[in-house]
Amino acid sequence: MPSVRELSALYENVMLAPRSGPDVCGTCFNFTAGYARCYACTHSPPVLDAFAPISYSVAHEQLHHALASYKRLNGDVARRLGAILAAILWRFIAHHERCIAQAAGVARFDLVTIVPSSDRNRDEHHPLRRIVAELVAPTRDRHERLLLRTDIEVPARSFSEAKFRATKPLHGQAVLLIDDTWTTGASAQSAAAALKVAGAGSIAAVVIGRHLNREWHQNDRRLRGIAQPFEWADCALCAEPVALPRRQS
Ligand SMILES: [Zn+2]
Ligand SMILES: [Zn+2]
Repeated sequence: MPSVRELSALYENVMLAPRSGPDVCGTCFNFTAGYARCYACTHSPPVLDAFAPISYSVAHEQLHHALASYKRLNGDVARRLGAILAAILWRFIAHHERCIAQAAGVARFDLVTIVPSSDRNRDEHHPLRRIVAELVAPTRDRHERLLLRTDIEVPARSFSEAKFRATKPLHGQAVLLIDDTWTTGASAQSAAAALKVAGAGSIAAVVIGRHLNREWHQNDRRLRGIAQPFEWADCALCAEPVALPRRQS
């Protein structure tokens, strides 16, 4: 059996570490043109107390394909991708849960849960739940299924407090939410809102891939400025801010 270190190292050359800095959204690490928050983050309520993306996931590139395929495919290919993604999550949380907890104002997270799929039927067998609840040692003992998708229709990529509901009342526990991908953040923020309604304390989210399009504005230049290979000792929350290449004037 390959180790967590060996499996996670397979993606070191395609992972792109988000870093805070000028022209980077202070909530979601999207690139901005000089704004403190990106468009999506100024248009949905900032319910999460902290957010840490492990890597950027660039549309149509390798990590993006892995994040789509591990839940779309079956059999050995899906299992292998799931094992790699589990190793990435394991190694990152083992190194950086403290940073995320500190950013959320707590010592550690009492509970860990996943952001449910928007599709109720798919959510029943979401492979991310197996990763978080069974494979990843730093999360499996604290995992509980805390959220369900409600019957309420919510447009894709829209924030709604009613999109999810908690499976039980909470009493101030700090919750770590895990998702595979962050696009606009609407799902993670909606999930956090449902947990707050149920009585949760601080809530933070970790995602494996913060989705970006390379063609959008200056994203290609910005992505090329990120140091590689991926450095496990730093995360988006504990690393020094980095001045990535600015816009060409
Ligand atoms: Zn943002
Ligand atoms: Zn860190």
